[in-house]
Amino acid sequence: MTTEDTKKMLRMEVDQIFQFNCAPGVSCFTKCCQDVTIVLTPYDVIRMKNALGISSEEFIDKYTVIVPKKDKLIPMVVLKMDEESKKCTLVSDKGCGIYADRPWPCRMYPLNLNDDGTYGMIAERSKCKGLDEDAKMKINDWLIGQGVLVYEEMNELFAEITIPLSAQNLDIDNPQIHQMVFMALYNQDKFKDFVFKSSFLKKFVIEDEIIEKIKDDDIELMKFAFDWIKFGILGQKTMWIKAGADGK
Ligand code: SF4
Ligand code: SF4
Repeated sequence: MTTEDTKKMLRMEVDQIFQFNCAPGVSCFTKCCQDVTIVLTPYDVIRMKNALGISSEEFIDKYTVIVPKKDKLIPMVVLKMDEESKKCTLVSDKGCGIYADRPWPCRMYPLNLNDDGTYGMIAERSKCKGLDEDAKMKINDWLIGQGVLVYEEMNELFAEITIPLSAQNLDIDNPQIHQMVFMALYNQDKFKDFVFKSSFLKKFVIEDEIIEKIKDDDIELMKFAFDWIKFGILGQKTMWIKAGADGK
């Protein structure tokens, strides 16, 4: 491959043809599920913990490593690899144990989304044998097949918090605020308890329809948590405090 070809592979448009197929049978099958840093979003966590049938707390304890980021309110939540084998703890010889609910980076591999909306090849051709398979399709069709679109939609909602937070560079060193933000974003079951079992609903004006939705729908609860962070941390008018509830 020439340098020019390599450059082209780093900035591909959605309608570009892409040659790739990954399936049991490729000689490298599951090799990319080891020794890799996979950063999880709140939506990834919801899909994965539900696929495993466990609580968000158990998922975080068992399957993730929390990496604090200097001067940042939101830490990196990274998928844990087995200490000895370095393999993802969800992989077996048969493939991903939660394939239908695998996180966004696993769906995207061997591609990655560039900041300008193009797609870049991140896999090494010598290691990812799926790139030699005789299957061609437009990148867009491949992304649809991988179930990426809903993840892009959820990632955009998450970015409504992460981008302003990065831009504002808020100087928050109160550990309690860090814990609350982490809970709201990543420990959805605990956040739900916080909403329904504390004085939260007495303090905020929340429509009955929303209360009903967030009781049973993790995605609605996640969006509600985003609104709460936008209100409490970013100062946006996404929620209202009940008259007198703030002691004024
Ligand atoms: S979540 Fe699934 S696809 Fe992703 S690294 Fe683990 S086993 Fe592989
Ligand atoms: S390295 Fe490529 S072909 Fe091999 S399992 Fe991973 S994505 Fe599939």
